[in-house]
Amino acid sequence: MRSLDLVRPGETVSLLLLGAHSDDIEIGAGGTILQLLAAAAAVNAHWCVLSGAGARGTEAEASAAAFLKGAANIKVELAAFKDSYFPYQGSELKDWFVGLKSRIDPDIIFTHRRRDAHQDHREVSKLTWNAFRNHLILEYEIPKWDGDLGQPNGYVPLTAEVLERKIELLNYHFGTQRSKDWFDAETFRGLARLRGIECRATEGYAEAFVMRKARLA
Ligand SMILES: [Zn+2]
Repeated sequence: MRSLDLVRPGETVSLLLLGAHSDDIEIGAGGTILQLLAAAAAVNAHWCVLSGAGARGTEAEASAAAFLKGAANIKVELAAFKDSYFPYQGSELKDWFVGLKSRIDPDIIFTHRRRDAHQDHREVSKLTWNAFRNHLILEYEIPKWDGDLGQPNGYVPLTAEVLERKIELLNYHFGTQRSKDWFDAETFRGLARLRGIECRATEGYAEAFVMRKARLA
């Protein structure tokens, strides 16, 4: 299967990474980020956690630094929206996105899926598309109790080494503090294996995304 390269070898690329909560970006796109860093000549990363106040912010900063090790420029932006209440903070969130859009113009945006069952995730997805209207947007997936995983249409095959590094970093930065009973290596490896099957990944693993629009050249 022919691949459309997200990053051309030797290219400098700017990423915008958006997550409602402190572990979302890592769960959904952590392996892709690690691999992009290895492939691109230079990566400029703008990493935003929207409910990143207090302890959540401290762990988000440490984790972002670990996942983005080797990036040319890193900006971590922590907002303090109230966890689980994003739809009820719509006006303030919209203002935040308008401000963000005026400051950056990324090559690739990673955000939540439009059909994610978590209300905070959906709100972030909606406002991402609302604010960034001339950009490549990849929507990542987060496993959860709701059983909302869909049928993605964009895949990034991961090496086994990158997947294990992703799991190691997730466990190190978030594993001990999580009440989520599904947060473990088996979940992350299992989902990556299924996505690997779907895209015939050489080493068997992948992260998957919803690509609503892709411009082909
Ligand atoms: Zn989340």
